[in-house]
Amino acid sequence: MDRTTPNPPSARTTPTARQGKSRLARSIVNSQLLISAALLAFAVVVFVVRPSAYQVPLFFACLLLVFILTGVALLVDWNPRRKRWAVALPVLDIFAILGMREAEPQLGVGLLLVLPVIWMARNYRLSGAISAVALSTALLWTSRIIKGDPLSILDFGAQVLLPMTLAFLATTTYATSRRSQSQRELLRQQSALVESALVRARKQERLLDEVLNAVEFGVVAFDRHGVATLQNNAHQQSLRDFGAPRAAVIHPSIYQPDGITLYDDTTRPYARAVAGEEFENIVFWVGAPGEERAAFSATSRQVSTVDGTPDGGVVVLRDVTTELEAVRARENLASSVSHELRTPLTSIIGFLELAVDSPELTDETRRMLEIAARNSERMLGLVTDLLQTASDKDGSLTLSTSRCDIAELARQAVESAQLSAEQRGLTLKTMLDQTAVTAADPFRVRQVIDNLLNNAVKYNRTGGSITVAVLADETTVRVDVTDTGVGVSPDDLAHLFDRFFRTGSARSSAIVGTGLGLGISRDIAKLHGGSLSVTSEVGVGSTFSLLLPATPELPATPEAS
Ligand code: ADP
Repeated sequence: MDRTTPNPPSARTTPTARQGKSRLARSIVNSQLLISAALLAFAVVVFVVRPSAYQVPLFFACLLLVFILTGVALLVDWNPRRKRWAVALPVLDIFAILGMREAEPQLGVGLLLVLPVIWMARNYRLSGAISAVALSTALLWTSRIIKGDPLSILDFGAQVLLPMTLAFLATTTYATSRRSQSQRELLRQQSALVESALVRARKQERLLDEVLNAVEFGVVAFDRHGVATLQNNAHQQSLRDFGAPRAAVIHPSIYQPDGITLYDDTTRPYARAVAGEEFENIVFWVGAPGEERAAFSATSRQVSTVDGTPDGGVVVLRDVTTELEAVRARENLASSVSHELRTPLTSIIGFLELAVDSPELTDETRRMLEIAARNSERMLGLVTDLLQTASDKDGSLTLSTSRCDIAELARQAVESAQLSAEQRGLTLKTMLDQTAVTAADPFRVRQVIDNLLNNAVKYNRTGGSITVAVLADETTVRVDVTDTGVGVSPDDLAHLFDRFFRTGSARSSAIVGTGLGLGISRDIAKLHGGSLSVTSEVGVGSTFSLLLPATPELPATPEAS
């Protein structure tokens, strides 16, 4: 990024040079104007109090010289290359002032020497300060020496104190100008830094704009008062597509995930984000039922200043219409296909059971029919799962509870799984409490334990083991199914109970499955007021734990979320 940033020093070269030039010219002209103004005032006073001074040619010529020098200062283009020639101005001013002093010593014009001395000390640093004081002193003393006047106590002020005053002034001016020079330099550097930071910030802002407008998801940002400060093209487009008024920043009416119930003003995702809430993937529909619609998944994040003060936030909207429609289509398909399959399958199983009981069968034929019956039963199980899942989304899973012994249910489930476990070379162990009685739906609890056991067999390694433990205390009845199988990675664990989810290894293996069993099992556990959880380690194995309340208070309205 630094490479693409315009080089700030070169960008500054021209304006700085221009500023330097004008500052120099201003300083030269101002200094000379100051001297000529002082001399003008002096000339007026002299004209009043001692007009005869103008008859002294040296006095008049020197006075004139100062005004000529002022004219030169005004006319010359003082660029940095001519800077050193400008030194001639204060030097000649010194000569002129001392010339006037020579012509009219009583007028005290020598005091005006302070002006060119200050000028030189300020503009030509140490060398300027020393030269100005040295030149003034030398000229003062030279004239005295040429005239052959001895230094008297009366003249002490002019010959000694004046040069000392000039030296003091030159030193202070030099020190002050040095300090202000370094402050100016500091300021210049700081302003260069600010300038380059500004350039970078603008560049990043442009980049952010480009990115935000290129992405397909909608973005709306708002400040701490809830006023929208930014919205990208995708969001504006979605507003236009659904007929939102021109100035709108959010969809005027949005529907809950059922697509029918309207969100009210306080519970709609944008309002919740403005109220300071952070959330993930809240689904809403826009467009009235029966008309063209789209579904969005909203995620909100709060933004804060560097000191942590809340400073608004941002809502990101992802169009999930296609995904939701695909899920709905899949559920509809699963529902209708499984419904259509159940009836013929039940009939096949019935006839196979009748056929197996026929006395005329050879052992070989009976064995083949038994295999067919077993596989048909399995198929019916899968179809039942599918059908249940398709209908469960409406919350139609219901319980028929009675007093039931979970340890006994587990024992029966282990017995049924014995054969398939042996076929895979697995050892089945049990640790069952004598009784673990609670109020539950025995059919559904058995369904859960069967599912956990089937999985423990399916996703185990040859020669592994499965342990089923039932533990009961006053408050809970717990069923643990532990296997020594492939295990589940932490990433997959988060989705294990999602409908139709299967781990990558399960999908790529020949193991048959729909990814529905665990989701249904968890719903059954929740309906009982309990839970189904899992701990697992890849390559070591998994433990699924079904927890049921021992004195259950079953929910009045079953919910199967
Ligand atoms: P299915 O077994 O029909 O695929 P489930 O809902 O019972 O569906 O299981 C979902 C997924 O969880 C399985 O596909 C499998 O990837 C993983 N899984 C379930 N039980 C186990 C287990 N005991 N060990 C390892 N993975 C498991």
